[in-house]
Amino acid sequence: MTTATASVALFTADLRLHDNPVLRAALDSADEVVPLFVLDTGVQSAGYDVPNRRAFLADCLSDLDAGLRERGGRLIVRRGDVAGEVCAVASECGAQQVHLAGDVSGYAQRREERLRRALAADGRRLCVHDAVVTALPPGAVTPSGRDHFAVFTPYFRRWTGAGLRGVLHAPRTVRVPEGLASLPVPARTEVSGVSPAVAAGGESEGRARFDAWRAGPMKTYADQHDDLAADTTSRLSPHLHFGTLSAVELVHKARRTGGDGADAFVRQLAWRDFHHQVLAARPRAAHEDYRPRGDRWRHDEDEIAAWQQGRTGYPLVDAAMRQLLHEGWMHNRGRLLTASFLTKTLYVDWRVGARHFLDLLVDGDVANNQLNWQWVAGTGNDTRPNRVLNPLTQARRFDPDGTYVRRWLPELADVPGASVHQPWKLPDRERARLDYPQPLVGLSAGADRFLRARGLEGRSD
Ligand code: FAD
Repeated sequence: MTTATASVALFTADLRLHDNPVLRAALDSADEVVPLFVLDTGVQSAGYDVPNRRAFLADCLSDLDAGLRERGGRLIVRRGDVAGEVCAVASECGAQQVHLAGDVSGYAQRREERLRRALAADGRRLCVHDAVVTALPPGAVTPSGRDHFAVFTPYFRRWTGAGLRGVLHAPRTVRVPEGLASLPVPARTEVSGVSPAVAAGGESEGRARFDAWRAGPMKTYADQHDDLAADTTSRLSPHLHFGTLSAVELVHKARRTGGDGADAFVRQLAWRDFHHQVLAARPRAAHEDYRPRGDRWRHDEDEIAAWQQGRTGYPLVDAAMRQLLHEGWMHNRGRLLTASFLTKTLYVDWRVGARHFLDLLVDGDVANNQLNWQWVAGTGNDTRPNRVLNPLTQARRFDPDGTYVRRWLPELADVPGASVHQPWKLPDRERARLDYPQPLVGLSAGADRFLRARGLEGRSD
Protein backbone atom coordinates (compact mmCIF):
# COMPACT_ATOMS: atom_id res chain seq x y z
CA MET A 1 0.00 0.00 0.00
CA THR A 2 1.35 3.47 -0.91
CA THR A 3 0.86 6.54 1.32
CA ALA A 4 -0.70 9.60 -0.26
CA THR A 5 1.57 12.61 -0.71
CA ALA A 6 0.37 16.07 0.33
CA SER A 7 1.16 19.68 -0.47
CA VAL A 8 -0.10 22.97 0.93
CA ALA A 9 -1.78 25.75 -1.09
CA LEU A 10 -1.46 28.84 1.08
CA PHE A 11 -4.17 31.33 0.06
CA THR A 12 -3.33 35.01 0.48
CA ALA A 13 -4.46 37.58 -2.12
CA ASP A 14 -5.81 34.83 -4.39
CA LEU A 15 -9.04 33.68 -2.73
CA ARG A 16 -10.39 31.82 -5.74
CA LEU A 17 -10.65 28.41 -7.38
CA HIS A 18 -10.69 29.62 -11.00
CA ASP A 19 -7.42 30.56 -12.65
CA ASN A 20 -5.33 30.04 -9.56
CA PRO A 21 -1.75 28.93 -10.36
CA VAL A 22 -1.04 28.37 -6.64
CA LEU A 23 -3.86 25.88 -6.22
CA ARG A 24 -3.16 24.27 -9.59
CA ALA A 25 0.53 23.71 -8.79
CA ALA A 26 -0.30 22.33 -5.34
CA LEU A 27 -2.81 19.91 -6.87
CA ASP A 28 -0.35 18.81 -9.56
CA SER A 29 2.47 18.20 -7.08
CA ALA A 30 0.81 15.75 -4.69
CA ASP A 31 -2.15 13.38 -4.22
CA GLU A 32 -3.76 15.57 -1.58
CA VAL A 33 -3.79 19.31 -0.95
CA VAL A 34 -4.32 21.41 2.15
CA PRO A 35 -6.12 24.61 1.07
CA LEU A 36 -4.93 26.80 3.92
CA PHE A 37 -5.79 30.31 5.04
CA VAL A 38 -4.01 31.83 8.03
CA LEU A 39 -5.68 34.71 9.86
CA ASP A 40 -2.36 36.48 10.03
CA THR A 41 -1.71 38.23 13.34
CA GLY A 42 1.09 40.18 11.58
CA VAL A 43 -1.44 41.87 9.28
CA GLN A 44 -3.56 42.67 12.34
CA SER A 45 -0.73 44.34 14.21
CA ALA A 46 0.33 46.30 11.08
CA GLY A 47 -3.08 48.04 11.16
CA TYR A 48 -4.31 46.65 7.84
CA ASP A 49 -6.99 44.46 9.40
CA VAL A 50 -9.97 46.85 9.51
CA PRO A 51 -13.71 46.06 9.81
CA ASN A 52 -14.75 46.76 6.20
CA ARG A 53 -12.08 44.51 4.73
CA ARG A 54 -12.56 41.92 7.46
CA ALA A 55 -16.27 41.70 6.52
CA PHE A 56 -15.48 41.30 2.83
CA LEU A 57 -12.77 38.75 3.66
CA ALA A 58 -15.24 36.71 5.72
CA ASP A 59 -17.51 36.45 2.65
CA CYS A 60 -14.53 35.42 0.53
CA LEU A 61 -13.48 32.67 2.91
CA SER A 62 -17.04 31.31 3.27
CA ASP A 63 -17.42 31.18 -0.48
CA LEU A 64 -14.00 29.56 -0.95
CA ASP A 65 -14.87 26.93 1.65
CA ALA A 66 -18.22 26.27 -0.07
CA GLY A 67 -16.49 25.91 -3.45
CA LEU A 68 -13.94 23.50 -2.01
CA ARG A 69 -16.68 21.46 -0.34
CA GLU A 70 -18.51 21.11 -3.68
CA ARG A 71 -15.28 19.53 -4.92
CA GLY A 72 -14.88 17.13 -2.00
CA GLY A 73 -12.51 19.29 0.03
CA ARG A 74 -12.71 22.10 2.58
CA LEU A 75 -10.78 25.16 3.69
CA ILE A 76 -8.43 24.79 6.65
CA VAL A 77 -8.31 27.99 8.72
CA ARG A 78 -5.65 28.74 11.31
CA ARG A 79 -4.77 31.88 13.23
CA GLY A 80 -1.34 33.19 14.24
CA ASP A 81 2.06 33.86 12.77
CA VAL A 82 2.03 32.69 9.13
CA ALA A 83 5.43 31.00 9.17
CA GLY A 84 4.67 29.11 12.38
CA GLU A 85 1.18 28.01 11.29
CA VAL A 86 2.25 26.90 7.81
CA CYS A 87 5.16 24.88 9.18
CA ALA A 88 2.82 23.23 11.70
CA VAL A 89 0.29 22.28 9.00
CA ALA A 90 3.02 21.03 6.64
CA SER A 91 4.44 18.86 9.37
CA GLU A 92 0.98 17.52 10.39
CA CYS A 93 0.28 16.28 6.85
CA GLY A 94 3.89 15.55 5.80
CA ALA A 95 3.80 18.08 2.93
CA GLN A 96 7.13 18.62 1.19
CA GLN A 97 5.98 21.69 -0.74
CA VAL A 98 4.07 24.84 0.12
CA HIS A 99 2.71 26.95 -2.75
CA LEU A 100 2.23 30.71 -2.45
CA ALA A 101 1.45 33.71 -4.69
CA GLY A 102 4.28 36.21 -5.18
CA ASP A 103 3.23 39.61 -3.82
CA VAL A 104 4.80 43.03 -3.70
CA SER A 105 4.42 44.90 -0.41
CA GLY A 106 7.34 45.02 2.00
CA TYR A 107 5.22 42.99 4.40
CA ALA A 108 4.48 40.31 1.78
CA GLN A 109 8.14 40.13 0.75
CA ARG A 110 9.28 39.71 4.36
CA ARG A 111 6.55 37.11 4.97
CA GLU A 112 7.74 35.13 1.95
CA GLU A 113 11.35 35.21 3.11
CA ARG A 114 10.51 34.13 6.67
CA LEU A 115 8.35 31.34 5.37
CA ARG A 116 11.05 30.14 2.98
CA ARG A 117 13.60 29.99 5.79
CA ALA A 118 11.26 28.33 8.30
CA LEU A 119 10.24 25.66 5.80
CA ALA A 120 13.84 25.06 4.67
CA ALA A 121 14.84 24.49 8.30
CA ASP A 122 12.32 21.60 8.28
CA GLY A 123 13.58 20.31 4.90
CA ARG A 124 10.53 21.62 3.02
CA ARG A 125 10.27 23.89 -0.01
CA LEU A 126 8.37 27.11 -0.68
CA CYS A 127 7.24 27.45 -4.32
CA VAL A 128 6.27 31.02 -5.27
CA HIS A 129 4.06 31.63 -8.30
CA ASP A 130 3.95 34.72 -10.51
CA ALA A 131 1.03 36.35 -12.30
CA VAL A 132 -1.42 35.36 -9.57
CA VAL A 133 -2.01 38.78 -7.99
CA THR A 134 -1.25 40.88 -11.10
CA ALA A 135 -1.73 40.17 -14.79
CA LEU A 136 1.96 40.65 -15.58
CA PRO A 137 4.50 39.92 -12.84
CA PRO A 138 6.47 42.92 -11.57
CA GLY A 139 9.80 43.03 -13.40
CA ALA A 140 8.46 41.14 -16.43
CA VAL A 141 9.00 44.28 -18.50
CA THR A 142 11.61 46.89 -17.56
CA PRO A 143 13.16 49.87 -19.29
CA SER A 144 16.79 49.39 -20.24
CA GLY A 145 19.09 49.89 -17.27
CA ARG A 146 16.31 50.26 -14.69
CA ASP A 147 14.46 47.83 -12.46
CA HIS A 148 11.00 49.35 -12.99
CA PHE A 149 9.04 51.86 -15.03
CA ALA A 150 8.50 55.25 -13.39
CA VAL A 151 6.13 56.51 -16.11
CA PHE A 152 2.90 54.77 -17.11
CA THR A 153 2.74 55.37 -20.90
CA PRO A 154 5.95 53.54 -21.86
CA TYR A 155 5.09 50.85 -19.31
CA PHE A 156 1.66 50.39 -20.89
CA ARG A 157 3.19 50.06 -24.36
CA ARG A 158 5.45 47.23 -23.20
CA TRP A 159 2.71 45.71 -21.00
CA THR A 160 0.36 45.55 -24.00
CA GLY A 161 2.97 43.79 -26.11
CA ALA A 162 3.90 41.23 -23.45
CA GLY A 163 2.27 37.79 -23.57
CA LEU A 164 0.05 36.80 -20.66
CA ARG A 165 -0.12 33.26 -19.33
CA GLY A 166 -3.23 31.23 -20.26
CA VAL A 167 -6.27 30.90 -17.99
CA LEU A 168 -6.49 27.83 -15.74
CA HIS A 169 -9.75 25.99 -15.11
CA ALA A 170 -11.09 25.52 -11.60
CA PRO A 171 -10.28 22.01 -10.34
CA ARG A 172 -13.05 19.37 -10.49
CA THR A 173 -12.03 17.68 -7.26
CA VAL A 174 -9.84 18.62 -4.32
CA ARG A 175 -8.73 15.88 -1.94
CA VAL A 176 -7.78 17.18 1.48
CA PRO A 177 -5.91 15.00 4.05
CA GLU A 178 -8.19 13.84 6.84
CA GLY A 179 -7.90 14.78 10.48
CA LEU A 180 -6.54 18.34 10.16
CA ALA A 181 -7.84 20.78 12.74
CA SER A 182 -9.42 24.00 11.47
CA LEU A 183 -10.95 27.06 13.11
CA PRO A 184 -14.50 27.82 11.97
CA VAL A 185 -14.58 29.91 8.79
CA PRO A 186 -15.16 33.52 9.96
CA ALA A 187 -18.61 34.99 9.26
CA ARG A 188 -19.34 38.60 8.28
CA THR A 189 -21.95 38.79 11.04
CA GLU A 190 -19.17 38.44 13.64
CA VAL A 191 -17.48 41.64 12.46
CA SER A 192 -18.44 44.87 14.20
CA GLY A 193 -17.86 48.47 13.10
CA VAL A 194 -18.53 47.78 9.41
CA SER A 195 -19.75 50.68 7.22
CA PRO A 196 -23.48 50.46 6.41
CA ALA A 197 -23.23 49.41 2.75
CA VAL A 198 -20.09 47.34 2.23
CA ALA A 199 -20.36 45.17 -0.90
CA ALA A 200 -20.61 41.40 -0.66
CA GLY A 201 -17.40 39.46 -1.21
CA GLY A 202 -16.54 36.03 -2.57
CA GLU A 203 -15.55 34.47 -5.85
CA SER A 204 -19.13 33.59 -6.88
CA GLU A 205 -20.20 37.19 -6.29
CA GLY A 206 -17.16 38.55 -8.14
CA ARG A 207 -17.68 36.33 -11.17
CA ALA A 208 -21.39 37.17 -11.35
CA ARG A 209 -20.59 40.89 -11.06
CA PHE A 210 -17.99 40.76 -13.81
CA ASP A 211 -20.26 38.77 -16.16
CA ALA A 212 -23.11 41.25 -15.66
CA TRP A 213 -20.84 44.26 -16.09
CA ARG A 214 -19.17 42.80 -19.18
CA ALA A 215 -22.59 42.17 -20.75
CA GLY A 216 -23.72 45.78 -20.14
CA PRO A 217 -21.83 48.81 -18.75
CA MET A 218 -18.45 47.72 -20.15
CA LYS A 219 -19.62 48.91 -23.58
CA THR A 220 -19.92 52.53 -22.42
CA TYR A 221 -17.02 52.47 -19.93
CA ALA A 222 -14.65 54.50 -22.12
CA ASP A 223 -17.08 57.45 -22.24
CA GLN A 224 -18.80 57.08 -18.87
CA HIS A 225 -16.13 56.02 -16.38
CA ASP A 226 -15.77 59.56 -14.98
CA ASP A 227 -19.50 60.23 -14.64
CA LEU A 228 -19.98 60.27 -10.87
CA ALA A 229 -23.77 60.00 -10.85
CA ALA A 230 -23.95 57.25 -13.48
CA ASP A 231 -21.68 55.09 -11.27
CA THR A 232 -21.05 52.56 -14.03
CA THR A 233 -17.47 51.52 -13.36
CA SER A 234 -17.01 47.83 -12.66
CA ARG A 235 -16.66 48.02 -8.85
CA LEU A 236 -14.41 45.01 -9.11
CA SER A 237 -11.58 46.58 -7.08
CA PRO A 238 -12.26 44.68 -3.83
CA HIS A 239 -12.42 41.44 -5.81
CA LEU A 240 -9.09 42.20 -7.43
CA HIS A 241 -7.61 43.16 -4.07
CA PHE A 242 -8.63 39.88 -2.42
CA GLY A 243 -8.01 37.89 -5.59
CA THR A 244 -11.52 36.48 -5.88
CA LEU A 245 -11.09 37.48 -9.51
CA SER A 246 -7.94 36.94 -11.52
CA ALA A 247 -6.51 39.94 -13.38
CA VAL A 248 -5.16 37.56 -16.07
CA GLU A 249 -8.62 36.11 -16.68
CA LEU A 250 -10.24 39.57 -16.79
CA VAL A 251 -7.74 40.82 -19.38
CA HIS A 252 -8.25 37.76 -21.59
CA LYS A 253 -12.04 38.04 -21.36
CA ALA A 254 -12.08 41.80 -21.97
CA ARG A 255 -9.82 41.39 -25.00
CA ARG A 256 -12.16 38.74 -26.35
CA THR A 257 -15.10 41.13 -25.89
CA GLY A 258 -13.25 43.96 -27.66
CA GLY A 259 -14.35 47.55 -28.25
CA ASP A 260 -13.44 50.90 -26.68
CA GLY A 261 -14.94 50.04 -23.29
CA ALA A 262 -13.01 46.79 -23.01
CA ASP A 263 -9.79 48.54 -24.10
CA ALA A 264 -10.23 51.28 -21.50
CA PHE A 265 -10.91 48.66 -18.80
CA VAL A 266 -7.77 46.71 -19.73
CA ARG A 267 -5.81 49.96 -19.50
CA GLN A 268 -7.02 50.40 -15.89
CA LEU A 269 -5.87 46.87 -15.08
CA ALA A 270 -2.48 47.87 -16.48
CA TRP A 271 -2.47 50.85 -14.07
CA ARG A 272 -2.92 48.35 -11.27
CA ASP A 273 0.06 46.34 -12.52
CA PHE A 274 2.04 49.56 -12.95
CA HIS A 275 1.68 50.52 -9.29
CA HIS A 276 2.50 46.98 -8.23
CA GLN A 277 5.74 46.96 -10.21
CA VAL A 278 6.71 50.31 -8.65
CA LEU A 279 6.05 49.02 -5.13
CA ALA A 280 7.84 45.72 -5.80
CA ALA A 281 10.96 47.68 -6.75
CA ARG A 282 10.53 50.40 -4.09
CA PRO A 283 8.66 48.87 -1.10
CA ARG A 284 9.50 51.95 0.98
CA ALA A 285 7.26 54.03 -1.30
CA ALA A 286 4.41 52.72 0.88
CA HIS A 287 5.58 55.23 3.50
CA GLU A 288 8.19 57.52 1.95
CA ASP A 289 7.99 59.97 -0.94
CA TYR A 290 8.79 58.22 -4.20
CA ARG A 291 10.28 61.53 -5.38
CA PRO A 292 11.33 63.30 -2.18
CA ARG A 293 10.36 66.95 -2.38
CA GLY A 294 11.02 68.29 1.12
CA ASP A 295 7.43 69.42 1.69
CA ARG A 296 6.61 71.27 4.88
CA TRP A 297 3.08 69.93 5.11
CA ARG A 298 0.44 71.73 7.15
CA HIS A 299 -1.34 69.79 9.90
CA ASP A 300 -4.57 71.20 11.28
CA GLU A 301 -6.62 68.58 13.15
CA ASP A 302 -9.92 70.43 12.60
CA GLU A 303 -9.38 70.69 8.85
CA ILE A 304 -8.42 67.02 8.64
CA ALA A 305 -11.51 66.01 10.65
CA ALA A 306 -13.73 68.14 8.38
CA TRP A 307 -12.24 66.43 5.33
CA GLN A 308 -12.69 62.96 6.85
CA GLN A 309 -16.30 63.61 7.80
CA GLY A 310 -17.30 65.26 4.51
CA ARG A 311 -17.77 68.74 6.05
CA THR A 312 -15.31 70.87 4.04
CA GLY A 313 -18.06 73.08 2.60
CA TYR A 314 -17.25 71.90 -0.96
CA PRO A 315 -20.17 69.64 -1.87
CA LEU A 316 -18.39 67.45 -4.42
CA VAL A 317 -15.50 66.75 -2.02
CA ASP A 318 -17.93 66.10 0.82
CA ALA A 319 -20.18 63.82 -1.21
CA ALA A 320 -17.24 61.61 -2.13
CA MET A 321 -16.01 61.46 1.48
CA ARG A 322 -19.51 60.49 2.66
CA GLN A 323 -19.66 57.77 0.03
CA LEU A 324 -16.42 56.38 1.50
CA LEU A 325 -17.87 56.42 5.04
CA HIS A 326 -21.07 54.73 3.90
CA GLU A 327 -19.83 52.13 1.42
CA GLY A 328 -16.14 51.68 2.18
CA TRP A 329 -15.67 52.50 -1.50
CA MET A 330 -15.36 55.67 -3.53
CA HIS A 331 -15.57 56.41 -7.24
CA ASN A 332 -12.13 56.98 -8.81
CA ARG A 333 -13.00 60.56 -9.78
CA GLY A 334 -13.93 61.20 -6.15
CA ARG A 335 -10.63 59.69 -4.97
CA LEU A 336 -8.68 61.97 -7.30
CA LEU A 337 -10.57 65.07 -6.20
CA THR A 338 -10.60 64.40 -2.44
CA ALA A 339 -6.91 63.46 -2.46
CA SER A 340 -6.02 66.60 -4.42
CA PHE A 341 -8.10 68.71 -2.04
CA LEU A 342 -6.29 67.30 1.01
CA THR A 343 -2.73 67.30 -0.34
CA LYS A 344 -2.85 70.47 -2.41
CA THR A 345 -5.70 72.79 -1.43
CA LEU A 346 -5.17 72.02 2.29
CA TYR A 347 -1.52 71.02 1.76
CA VAL A 348 -1.73 68.12 4.23
CA ASP A 349 0.68 65.16 4.05
CA TRP A 350 -0.52 62.42 1.68
CA ARG A 351 0.16 59.81 4.39
CA VAL A 352 -2.66 61.28 6.51
CA GLY A 353 -5.14 60.80 3.68
CA ALA A 354 -3.79 57.42 2.65
CA ARG A 355 -4.20 56.15 6.23
CA HIS A 356 -7.82 57.31 6.37
CA PHE A 357 -8.55 55.61 3.03
CA LEU A 358 -6.87 52.39 4.22
CA ASP A 359 -8.98 52.46 7.38
CA LEU A 360 -12.16 52.37 5.32
CA LEU A 361 -11.64 51.13 1.76
CA VAL A 362 -12.81 47.58 1.08
CA ASP A 363 -10.31 47.57 -1.78
CA GLY A 364 -7.64 49.26 0.42
CA ASP A 365 -4.42 48.06 -1.10
CA VAL A 366 -0.87 49.12 -0.28
CA ALA A 367 0.27 49.35 -3.91
CA ASN A 368 -2.82 51.02 -5.35
CA ASN A 369 -3.63 53.24 -2.42
CA GLN A 370 -0.21 54.56 -1.42
CA LEU A 371 1.01 55.06 -4.97
CA ASN A 372 -2.20 56.69 -6.16
CA TRP A 373 -1.97 59.03 -3.19
CA GLN A 374 1.60 59.83 -4.12
CA TRP A 375 0.54 60.29 -7.74
CA VAL A 376 -2.08 62.86 -6.75
CA ALA A 377 0.15 64.57 -4.15
CA GLY A 378 2.83 65.02 -6.80
CA THR A 379 5.47 63.04 -4.91
CA GLY A 380 4.91 59.96 -7.10
CA ASN A 381 4.68 59.10 -10.79
CA ASP A 382 2.46 61.86 -12.18
CA THR A 383 4.19 63.67 -15.01
CA ARG A 384 2.25 66.85 -14.02
CA PRO A 385 2.91 66.82 -10.28
CA ASN A 386 1.78 70.40 -9.62
CA ARG A 387 -1.74 70.27 -11.01
CA VAL A 388 -4.44 71.14 -8.49
CA LEU A 389 -7.97 69.85 -9.10
CA ASN A 390 -10.63 72.51 -8.63
CA PRO A 391 -13.86 71.06 -7.11
CA LEU A 392 -16.05 73.46 -9.09
CA THR A 393 -14.45 72.67 -12.44
CA GLN A 394 -14.61 68.98 -11.58
CA ALA A 395 -18.28 69.36 -10.64
CA ARG A 396 -19.09 71.03 -13.98
CA ARG A 397 -17.42 68.20 -15.85
CA PHE A 398 -18.34 65.13 -13.84
CA ASP A 399 -21.54 65.97 -11.92
CA PRO A 400 -23.04 68.77 -14.04
CA ASP A 401 -26.56 68.69 -12.61
CA GLY A 402 -25.53 67.81 -9.03
CA THR A 403 -27.18 64.36 -8.89
CA TYR A 404 -24.17 62.74 -7.21
CA VAL A 405 -23.94 65.48 -4.57
CA ARG A 406 -27.65 65.27 -3.72
CA ARG A 407 -27.35 61.46 -3.41
CA TRP A 408 -24.71 61.73 -0.68
CA LEU A 409 -25.52 65.01 1.08
CA PRO A 410 -29.08 64.79 2.40
CA GLU A 411 -28.80 68.32 3.82
CA LEU A 412 -28.53 69.63 0.25
CA ALA A 413 -31.11 67.27 -1.27
CA ASP A 414 -33.57 70.11 -1.96
CA VAL A 415 -31.10 72.43 -3.66
CA PRO A 416 -31.88 72.17 -7.38
CA GLY A 417 -29.54 71.65 -10.35
CA ALA A 418 -25.97 72.83 -10.49
CA SER A 419 -26.50 75.43 -7.74
CA VAL A 420 -25.98 72.58 -5.27
CA HIS A 421 -22.25 72.87 -5.98
CA GLN A 422 -22.05 76.41 -4.59
CA PRO A 423 -24.39 76.62 -1.58
CA TRP A 424 -22.58 79.75 -0.38
CA LYS A 425 -24.14 81.60 -3.33
CA LEU A 426 -27.72 80.79 -2.31
CA PRO A 427 -29.88 83.67 -1.01
CA ASP A 428 -29.19 84.26 2.71
CA ARG A 429 -32.55 82.93 3.91
CA GLU A 430 -32.14 79.64 2.03
CA ARG A 431 -28.50 79.35 3.03
CA ALA A 432 -29.33 79.83 6.72
CA ARG A 433 -31.77 76.89 6.64
CA LEU A 434 -29.08 74.42 5.52
CA ASP A 435 -27.05 72.49 8.08
CA TYR A 436 -24.00 72.72 5.87
CA PRO A 437 -20.66 74.45 6.60
CA GLN A 438 -19.08 77.41 4.85
CA PRO A 439 -16.04 76.50 2.71
CA LEU A 440 -13.02 75.61 4.84
CA VAL A 441 -10.66 77.60 2.65
CA GLY A 442 -10.89 79.70 -0.53
CA LEU A 443 -10.02 77.57 -3.55
CA SER A 444 -7.56 80.01 -5.10
CA ALA A 445 -6.01 80.76 -1.71
CA GLY A 446 -5.45 77.03 -1.14
CA ALA A 447 -4.07 76.38 -4.63
CA ASP A 448 -1.81 79.46 -4.45
CA ARG A 449 -0.46 78.40 -1.05
CA PHE A 450 0.46 74.99 -2.49
CA LEU A 451 2.02 76.41 -5.63
CA ARG A 452 3.98 79.05 -3.68
CA ALA A 453 5.31 76.30 -1.41
CA ARG A 454 6.51 74.60 -4.60
CA GLY A 455 8.05 77.85 -5.80
CA LEU A 456 5.56 78.02 -8.70
CA GLU A 457 2.69 79.98 -10.05
CA GLY A 458 -0.01 77.92 -11.62
CA ARG A 459 -3.52 77.17 -12.59
CA SER A 460 -5.98 74.63 -11.25
CA ASP A 461 -8.01 72.18 -13.40
P1 FAD B 1 -12.79 50.43 -12.70
O1 FAD B 1 -12.79 51.80 -13.26
O2 FAD B 1 -13.87 49.52 -13.12
O3 FAD B 1 -11.36 49.81 -13.08
C1 FAD B 1 -11.15 48.40 -13.12
C2 FAD B 1 -10.03 48.01 -12.19
O4 FAD B 1 -8.81 48.63 -12.61
C3 FAD B 1 -10.23 48.46 -10.76
O5 FAD B 1 -11.05 47.57 -10.07
C4 FAD B 1 -8.80 48.50 -10.24
O6 FAD B 1 -8.36 47.22 -9.85
C5 FAD B 1 -8.01 48.93 -11.47
N1 FAD B 1 -7.79 50.38 -11.41
C6 FAD B 1 -8.59 51.35 -11.87
N2 FAD B 1 -8.02 52.56 -11.69
C7 FAD B 1 -6.84 52.34 -11.09
C8 FAD B 1 -5.78 53.18 -10.65
N3 FAD B 1 -5.81 54.51 -10.78
N4 FAD B 1 -4.72 52.60 -10.04
C9 FAD B 1 -4.65 51.27 -9.90
N5 FAD B 1 -5.60 50.42 -10.31
C10 FAD B 1 -6.68 50.95 -10.90
N6 FAD B 1 -7.62 51.17 -6.06
C11 FAD B 1 -7.60 50.07 -5.31
O7 FAD B 1 -7.86 48.98 -5.81
N7 FAD B 1 -7.26 50.12 -3.99
C12 FAD B 1 -6.96 51.30 -3.37
O8 FAD B 1 -6.65 51.30 -2.18
C13 FAD B 1 -7.01 52.49 -4.14
N8 FAD B 1 -6.76 53.69 -3.57
C14 FAD B 1 -6.78 54.83 -4.35
C15 FAD B 1 -6.47 56.06 -3.77
C16 FAD B 1 -6.47 57.22 -4.54
C17 FAD B 1 -6.12 58.54 -3.90
C18 FAD B 1 -6.79 57.15 -5.90
C19 FAD B 1 -6.78 58.38 -6.75
C20 FAD B 1 -7.10 55.93 -6.48
C21 FAD B 1 -7.09 54.76 -5.73
N9 FAD B 1 -7.39 53.50 -6.30
C22 FAD B 1 -7.35 52.38 -5.52
C23 FAD B 1 -7.58 53.37 -7.76
C24 FAD B 1 -9.03 53.48 -8.25
O9 FAD B 1 -9.64 54.62 -7.73
C25 FAD B 1 -9.87 52.26 -7.89
O10 FAD B 1 -9.21 51.08 -8.25
C26 FAD B 1 -11.22 52.30 -8.61
O11 FAD B 1 -11.91 53.47 -8.30
C27 FAD B 1 -12.04 51.09 -8.23
O12 FAD B 1 -13.29 51.14 -8.83
P2 FAD B 1 -13.70 50.12 -9.97
O13 FAD B 1 -13.37 48.74 -9.57
O14 FAD B 1 -15.11 50.40 -10.34
O15 FAD B 1 -12.70 50.58 -11.13
